[in-house]
Order: sequence, then structure tokens, then C-alpha cells
Amino acid sequence: MTKPEKEAAMSSPLPGAPLSDRGNKREGPAPQGPLEDRFGRSKHKLRISVTDRCNFRCHYCMPEDPQWLPREEILSFEELLRLCRLFVTELGLRRIRITGGEPLLRKNIEHFVASLQPLRAQGLERISMTSNGTLLARHAAALKAAGLDDINVSIDALDAELFEHMTHGALEPVLDGILAARDAELPVKLNAVVIRDQNEQEIVPLAEWAYQQNVSLRFIEFMPLDGNGGWNPQRVVPEAEIIERLRRRFAIEALPRTREPATYYLLDGRYRLGVISTISKPFCSSCDRVRITATGDIYPCLFSPVSMALREPLREGASDGELEQIIREAIWRKGKGFVESAGYVQRAAGMHTLGG
Ligand code: SAM
Ligand code: SF4
Repeated sequence: MTKPEKEAAMSSPLPGAPLSDRGNKREGPAPQGPLEDRFGRSKHKLRISVTDRCNFRCHYCMPEDPQWLPREEILSFEELLRLCRLFVTELGLRRIRITGGEPLLRKNIEHFVASLQPLRAQGLERISMTSNGTLLARHAAALKAAGLDDINVSIDALDAELFEHMTHGALEPVLDGILAARDAELPVKLNAVVIRDQNEQEIVPLAEWAYQQNVSLRFIEFMPLDGNGGWNPQRVVPEAEIIERLRRRFAIEALPRTREPATYYLLDGRYRLGVISTISKPFCSSCDRVRITATGDIYPCLFSPVSMALREPLREGASDGELEQIIREAIWRKGKGFVESAGYVQRAAGMHTLGG
């Protein structure tokens, strides 16, 4: 791809109406009814981090020397469950994704998954998890039995040395985990962050492998949320360039855009592959997510510099109605998203505390 093509790809328009052109920002306090923000985006998905701890040190996510939060600051499963119940029964959210840090490091995580099951009768449709996969071989069957619907596993390279360089962890257990999940009939999707001068050469091998295994794969553009300050726009491999590389190996057809964050393509007329292009094609105009950190801070957006705390009111005896009002206000005040952040987000919570 030439330099002007790369620049054009980096500034390509939003899918759907750009928020800046909608001009429909509403003022006043948060309304009752479905959970939504001032720009009319209603919320359906909750991503809840159950730990900030991780057994990897992916340089694009973690600081080199992470300071783990004291355990008493992390929400208990009872506290997490109360929030999940509120989000589903009172605020109408339909999907919960459990993330981290590495969620499989949290002891008895299967019990937490099982404790969410009664919420299905209240409208919860899906319970998912995002994991680095290292401990998955050990947990896959129990997670399936507890009622987990699917799991996303992060895998940025098939070259073991490069994988280790990027994550400070070993590839083999991750591959074992992916196969164990398949054996346990737990649906798996793969996520791969692509970073210039690191793993662009892995794009085709990863796609070939996922295609052969018939496992869904999504490439993710590198976002300015890493722990070490190594992000810059030149290190982003935009969607257009990822597709250009794949075109050398596969026949590619773009599929119509949906409300999902990924844009999908059909490879060789049969394999569906996605690209999450937060940087080159932000999808902020259709964002329907809410994020809670392991310490109970609610972030209306990955790129939001501010959060609202739920842990103190939870522990000080707030009623469901009071908690609901805090959540509604936090979401109502959500900004436009990445489209207005233009670069690094300076704040205490890194990607490993927010959960991606
Ligand atoms: N430890 C689990 C894992 O790695 O899947 C869950 C937490 S991790 C923060 C969630 C997702 O965020 C992973 O797929 C990871 O690749 C992605 N991620 C982390 N830092 C990122 C960054 N700077 N840009 C894009 N994606 C990132
Ligand atoms: Fe850990 Fe996931 Fe962050 Fe890697 S991306 S350091 S596995 S939390």
C-alpha cells in the first residue's frame, strides 16, 4: 500500500452516521427507560472485569512493571453479581462479557458464571469471556458446564518466539486451550492485535490456520491504550492494509457492515474473517457497550478519561435505585468516543484493568 493510500485508510469515514453530524446531543439529567447516552446510543452489552492480574505482559496492554491492586479493592463475586443483576433486570442489558486482566486467574470463576444463569429468565441472552487462553485447557469443560456461551482467545502470532516476545508468555498452552475448548463444545473466536514492525507477517499464517481449523478470527487495530506509551499512529496497521495482505493469498469479498464492531470479509467464498478497526474506521456511532473495572469503576467508553465509582456506594449500603441512578448518569454523560479523543488517553486505568 502506498503512503497516500495508508493515510486515506487512516481517515476513512465512520460506518453509519458520524455523531458529529447528527447534532442531536440532548441536555438535562439522565432519563429513565432504556439505558442510553445523550447521543441516543442505547446499551445492550456489559463488559465486566473480574481481575486486574495477568500471567502475561503483552506490551500493548500492560505496563512493564504492573502494580496489582490490593485484593480488598477488587469486587467480590457477590458484588459483581449484584451489579450484573441490576444491569440486566433494571437497565435491560442482554449480554455480559467476563474479562480482565486474565479472568481464568480468578479463583472459582466457573461458580461466578453459574451464578449468572438465573438472569437468563430476566432477559440475559449471552454470557461470554475474553481470555489469553493459557489456563483454558484446564477450565474449558467446567466453563461449558457452568453455562458459558462462548470464549474469545487472544493470539497474536503462530511463531512461538514472536508470540513470546509480544506477550512474555508461551504459545503452546494457548493452542492447547483453543483445542480443549473445541473438544468441550465451547465456541471459540480468536482475536489478534496487529502492530507494525511486530507481527504484520503473521496476518496470513494466522488467517490460514484459523481457516483450516474453522475457528472465527478477528484482527484488531492497535489502540492507544497500552501500558508503556509505545503507541503511535505509524504502528497501527489499518484494516485496508490487513485486507491487502490477505488478498495476496485469498479471494476476498467484503460483507455488508452490521452493528458489530468488526467489519467482515469472506475468504475464498467460505471463511468469514473480521477486522476491528477502531482507529481507521471508528464505530463509536453504534457503540452499545458499558465497561466495569474489577474495582467497580464504570467507564462509558474505552477512551473515556473519567469514570464513576460504584464500589463505595455498593459497600456503603446504597439501594438498587441509587446504584441505578449512578449508572444512568455515568452513561448519559458518555462522550462521542474515540472520534473525539485523538490519541493517547491519560488516566489511571490501563487496558488490563478495563478488559478491552
Ligand atoms: N487477558 C484477556 C485477553 O488477553 O484476551 C482479556 C483481557 S485483554 C485486555 C482483552 C483484549 O484486549 C485482548 O484481545 C487484547 O488483545 C486486547 N488489547 C489489549 N491492549 C490492546 C491495545 N492496545 N489495542 C488493541 N487491543 C488491545
Ligand atoms: Fe494480559 Fe490480556 Fe493484557 Fe495480554 S492483553 S497482558 S493477556 S490482560
